[in-house]
Amino acid sequence: MSDFRRASRIDAIEVSEILQIGARAAALKRQGRPVIVLGAGEPDFDTPNWIKTAAMDAIQAGDTKYTALGGTPALKQAIQAKFLRDQGLEYAADEIIVSTGAKQVLYNAFMASLEPGDEVIVPAPYWSSYVDIIALSGGRPVLVPCGAETGFRMTTAQLQQALSPRTRWVLFNSPSNPSGAAYSAAEYAPLLELLLQYPDVWVMADDMYEHLAYDGFDFATPAAVEPRLKGRCLTINGVSKAYAMTGWRIGYAGGPAALISAMAVIQGQATSCASSVSQAAAMAALNGPQEILQERLASFQARRDLVVDGLNAIPGLSCPRPEGAFYTFASCAGVLGRRTPAGDLLQSDADFCAYVLDHHDVAMVPGRAFGLSPYFRISYATSEADLRQALARLGRAVAQLT
Ligand code: PLP
Repeated sequence: MSDFRRASRIDAIEVSEILQIGARAAALKRQGRPVIVLGAGEPDFDTPNWIKTAAMDAIQAGDTKYTALGGTPALKQAIQAKFLRDQGLEYAADEIIVSTGAKQVLYNAFMASLEPGDEVIVPAPYWSSYVDIIALSGGRPVLVPCGAETGFRMTTAQLQQALSPRTRWVLFNSPSNPSGAAYSAAEYAPLLELLLQYPDVWVMADDMYEHLAYDGFDFATPAAVEPRLKGRCLTINGVSKAYAMTGWRIGYAGGPAALISAMAVIQGQATSCASSVSQAAAMAALNGPQEILQERLASFQARRDLVVDGLNAIPGLSCPRPEGAFYTFASCAGVLGRRTPAGDLLQSDADFCAYVLDHHDVAMVPGRAFGLSPYFRISYATSEADLRQALARLGRAVAQLT
């Protein structure tokens, strides 16, 4: 029997640090340790009942076959209505695609548009899948470090500097995973104004966390903020985070028909279409009562405040208050250079997270996994009791450093 040979195209992809930490936390739990994992990228709520019922009805009605490649006409209509209702954006049916999660939308888009060496501007910190999907597609992520000092947002000067003749896309993710930072319309405006001068550069907006924005933050998306750019914008969204539907795997996007049809070519040979039952569920989510979004938002906002206040009360840690999503991205610069009780020197955010996990049973993800150090991400999509306990442990962990 010969050894398995991996294709070289996956050499560009590193084993996810998030998965490694999850595995380490699971191993500690198996040893009986009371580990609290603050790594989840999904709401801890269940999918609302009326959405589940819509899926069961779809099964009973025989909605169990392949659908049209780009999505059922009914779901596309619900998406058109959503874009119009929430953003005032008008898309024709051939300007919309439904995929197996927003992740597949991204995959389709990069695979369908990037030539080897083409560049994608990605502000850091970023959701790690972006750089992996860009690399798999043969492209080159151009990382722009955007730290707490600019509110984790890219400035116009940084964008200007990152643009090159090879730039195909500028990627925005607002509110952001992992920083929770969001761009208001006024913050987007000068960046988009600059891009008007670069007709070959397209804009990808990952609006996955649109409905998770706090303190009345007025969510904005590039295609609506700068209508002159709409013809080269891909606006990505999905039901995973807003409606607690991560397992249903439905994401969607609106964009120019030529791009959408190129993305459909990739999708056609990957998954053919998204699940028929999940599409029926997503349609119910988008067309149904939206009040649930507000109720859950209040709960997430309370937890955000609990975590931000708790972190800022620990000397050496500092955490801006994020506008949205369900993550905090705090700096641990103030504890680097100190030693653990075992005498180990903390030199990086990864050292800090390893120390907290190994000795104080809290799993967090170092900023380096998202392309920006020295920070660490906490997901607060977990119970308040666990969050309080985790903050207390974190406080003890830092107090023991010398
Ligand atoms: N975009 C961002 C910023 C995310 O954080 C995630 C999931 O973690 C996704 C997209 C993917 O969502 P989906 O579950 O629809 O594939």
